[in-house]
Amino acid sequence: MSVRVRYAPSPTGLQHIGGVRTALFNYLFARSMGGSFILRLEDTDRSRSADRYVQNLYDTFKWLGFYWDEGPDVGGAFGPYVQSERFALYKEYAQRLIDMDKAYYCFCGDAKTADKLANKAADQADDNAEEAAQAESGYGYNRRCRSIDPAEAKRRVAAGEPHVIRLKIPLDGTTSFTDLLLGEIEWKNADVNPDPVLLKSDGFPTYHLANVVDDHTMQISHVMRAQEWIPSAPLHLLMYQAFGWQPPKLCHLPMVLGQDGQKLSKRHGATAVDEFRTKGYLKDALINYVAMLGCSYQDGRDLYSLSELVSLFKLEHINKAPAIFDYVKLEWFNGQYIRALEPAALAGLLAPLLAAAGLVQDPPTAAQRAIIDQATPLVRERLKYLTDVAEALRFLFTEPVLPPVAELLPKKLDAAATAAGLAAARQLLVDIGVDDHDRIEAAFRAQAEALGCKLGDLLMPLRLAVTGTKVSPPLFESIHVLGVAKALPRIDKAIAALRA
Ligand code: GLU
Repeated sequence: MSVRVRYAPSPTGLQHIGGVRTALFNYLFARSMGGSFILRLEDTDRSRSADRYVQNLYDTFKWLGFYWDEGPDVGGAFGPYVQSERFALYKEYAQRLIDMDKAYYCFCGDAKTADKLANKAADQADDNAEEAAQAESGYGYNRRCRSIDPAEAKRRVAAGEPHVIRLKIPLDGTTSFTDLLLGEIEWKNADVNPDPVLLKSDGFPTYHLANVVDDHTMQISHVMRAQEWIPSAPLHLLMYQAFGWQPPKLCHLPMVLGQDGQKLSKRHGATAVDEFRTKGYLKDALINYVAMLGCSYQDGRDLYSLSELVSLFKLEHINKAPAIFDYVKLEWFNGQYIRALEPAALAGLLAPLLAAAGLVQDPPTAAQRAIIDQATPLVRERLKYLTDVAEALRFLFTEPVLPPVAELLPKKLDAAATAAGLAAARQLLVDIGVDDHDRIEAAFRAQAEALGCKLGDLLMPLRLAVTGTKVSPPLFESIHVLGVAKALPRIDKAIAALRA
């Protein structure tokens, strides 16, 4: 059997880490098995779907470098399958269930208006699985129309009476399946949402109908999705049974939790992929980290490229336990990936961020680009996020603000001694320059000794004067990129402030 999997988001929000994890596991599984990966937009809930979320999905896939293998032709490329473009198909299949007496017309009112309690379950949360679960467990339709004679129901429909189509859930017996990860799961049919709506009165399908029809007609072999969708499973399986279809294999992925054991949410930090992107995460770091959320690859290693993940991915290596999202660990991954980049490639990624911070033009001028190229090796070891670059290199592109005098003073030195130290430092820069790092550092050491202070007592005020901050890239290298000539007036300004 060939492997065919799909990622089937509802475009009702921004792509978040949990969604990307689901997409990635499906992607890795398909690629590792030489199978197909399909993208399907489940936009049956028209009121909650929005174009900007669709766009966000495309942007996310593009950024991450995921591609899908088939779909309707859109200008020579594969589009995703879009459920709202397939409504006629779902209608046809709902009708088939009616003809097979596995579904029935219900006239109790539209899913959104009439029987509030019944319909809370029926119209259930096309997209919100928790709500769906709640609805399924607590409330339900009273099956009033199930006993209407089919011929009579048909007449009422032909006469134009508004109606929905509901699935006949068996009144007794059980429904079970073997989850590839969680093992045997069984429900009493009496506990399954009584007779969910498949087709709403406006002819639109519910999530359940569209999801099952699509998984079947697209010959999906494995459904890998978040565990919050488990409550939908019996209902879907009963639908497969009603149609007489073989269901796909189901694999419900462990939840992604924050450090406190609660479902990962905004409270814990960034959750939308966009946030990670704009914060300066590298996509390879994010992919690597997300791939490890609840799955192991090879012992003793943390870093894997996407192609390594593809070749090592195994369904059997997915854990049952929930995955804990650790922002510190992700930060570590990001640092590793930043340091693994070639300086020229890194400089290419940093330039737009410096432009976004208003420090250089977009694209940078040749002179600005030369400075960025020279400065990149200095920050490469220090950046946690790419966006840190703006603060780290600000002093190269703008005049820094001199901190208040009190901040310039090293411990145990007064303003006069600090000014004297800075003046001595200035002289060394003039005499020796910063081209030879070892030589200038030795000269600073000797000078500190002569003044009876520590090396840091000379460097700290100099750093503040030249860069405006206490933490900068290595000082002499920074002055080298800036140019001694530009550094001197900054030092003079600090000396004047100390002597004022
Ligand atoms: N549309 C559902 C979602 O938003 C898909 C659930 C499934 O994969 O079956 O996650």
